[in-house]
Amino acid sequence: MICPECWKHFRPFAEWQKICTVCYRAEKRSHSEYYRCADDNPKGCFVDDVLLRQARCLCHPDRHAQSQLSVRVSQQLNRLLAKNH
Ligand SMILES: [Zn+2]
Repeated sequence: MICPECWKHFRPFAEWQKICTVCYRAEKRSHSEYYRCADDNPKGCFVDDVLLRQARCLCHPDRHAQSQLSVRVSQQLNRLLAKNH
C-alpha cells in the first residue's frame, strides 16, 4: 500500500490503517508541537510537521525533472524537518 502522505510503500497492520506509521506519528506529534520556521522573521512562522512533509512530497525533484528550484526547496524543507527531530 502507498502512504498518501509521503508516497512511500508500507505494509498496513490492519485494514483501518491508511497512512504509514512514520506519518501517523508525525501527525500525532504535530497536534501538540509547532516550531518557528523562520527565526529571523519577527512575526514568526509556524508550520506543522505534516504540512512540511506534504510540501516536500509535492516539490520533490523527481516530480519536477530535477529542476534547480525543486532541489533547493526540497533541501530547505529537509533542513526544517531535521530541526524537529
Ligand atoms: Zn507515510
